Amino acid sequence: PTSYWQDLDKAHHLHPFTDFQQYRKTGGRIFNKAEHIYIYDTDGNEILDGMSGLWCCNLGYSQPEITNAISEQLQQLPFYNNFFNCSNQPAVELANALVDVTPKQFNQVFFTNSGSEANDTNIKLVHRYYDLIGKPEKKLFISRNNAYHGSTVAAGSLGGMSGMHKQYTGLNYVHHIQQPHWFAEGAGQDKESFGLQAARELERKIDELGEENVAAFIAEPVQGAGGVIVPPASYWPEIQRICRERDILLISDEVICGFGRTGNWFGCETFGFEPDLMTFAKAVTNGFQPLGGVMVGNKVADVLTAGGGEFAHGLTYSGHPAACAAGIATLKVLRDNQIIETAAQDVMPYFQAQLQTLVDHPIVGEVRGQGMFAALELVKDKSSHERLAPDSAGAIHCRDKAIQNGLMVRAVGDAIVTAPPIICNRRDVDTLIDRLSRALDTTAAHFNI
Ligand code: PLP
Repeated sequence: PTSYWQDLDKAHHLHPFTDFQQYRKTGGRIFNKAEHIYIYDTDGNEILDGMSGLWCCNLGYSQPEITNAISEQLQQLPFYNNFFNCSNQPAVELANALVDVTPKQFNQVFFTNSGSEANDTNIKLVHRYYDLIGKPEKKLFISRNNAYHGSTVAAGSLGGMSGMHKQYTGLNYVHHIQQPHWFAEGAGQDKESFGLQAARELERKIDELGEENVAAFIAEPVQGAGGVIVPPASYWPEIQRICRERDILLISDEVICGFGRTGNWFGCETFGFEPDLMTFAKAVTNGFQPLGGVMVGNKVADVLTAGGGEFAHGLTYSGHPAACAAGIATLKVLRDNQIIETAAQDVMPYFQAQLQTLVDHPIVGEVRGQGMFAALELVKDKSSHERLAPDSAGAIHCRDKAIQNGLMVRAVGDAIVTAPPIICNRRDVDTLIDRLSRALDTTAAHFNI
């Protein structure tokens, strides 16, 4: 029975991003099956996964081509590493497939197991690059408030999540600027001028730190874990201009945006910029195996491959054969079936249009989104943007009601966030909207609105 698993879980399992003491009291929901876009708990409840796991199962859960590729690979060569002068066949094949689907400046990849490690790798790659071109003083990274780049010490330092920064000391060479969050920080201003102003924070920070000291700017095309912060159209072209003019490397963290989430293969394509490095993870294997990495653009790769000796960095499982087999199969499913292109034409605009209908709901202050993810800001007062309840209680209440209704969503601050698989059809979207709007109704009634 469920209580057996819950008791064992509470006794021995420390969960990520969880209040351990609280969890000991409440326990959690335990999942043991998934199909299409639905997950099932040990009580047999069916829940539409409006979060694609952790924004990773873009193709949902029923993908036999991927699961078969993993098991076949485990029979053939369950492990061999890529250290020193060795390689394994799936890693070679996936590296080539990634070069095919990424923007033209990318011809090299470095594999990791996760997005966090990939961002740690970015720091080392960038520092090495500047050492090799004779600018070793360029060490500083600029990132954004409320960004999420992972939870290792280095990736967590790049991130701008205040909760994480309260618990450990971040790296002293990382600096943060404003996020382009119009609803929270720019209300009353024209969106596009707000976008330009937010981008120019980067220029001001570079001036403050000294251009000769700044190595790179890293950002997610759309901030995901921070609450699906979709930047105004003016934002990214201005960021790119500043990075180019000031000789700062531009890193796009595509861990959530990559592999279709925004309606193109990569978020930088949707927002029209050309990064020098690109972080990926999650949906590269549809979440079925742990795999991440950095696509290294020619500007940096040409220097790193032209001499300078060993790059002293790597992980036992960098380019693990079973993970790479999952990646090869995922890219094949995406390409052979033109899944991203089809979704961008059909289900994504439908999803966004249906979500926009919720903007008339009394507790919804803004609906923002791109491709197949979105956020709804919950408010008490639409015109003043006054939050629904202190301490995110409004969004937490709504999330819990949505889960009770059979829809997994996330609460981020005062927002409800959803990022369902991109293989949803219109009927799936209707089910999602129905379960979400009922949760909004219950929440409004609970807070007397
Ligand atoms: N970068 C972004 C944009 C992310 O959203 C995440 C995870 O959510 C990461 C990096 C970290 O990836 P991982 O959890 O695989 O270490």
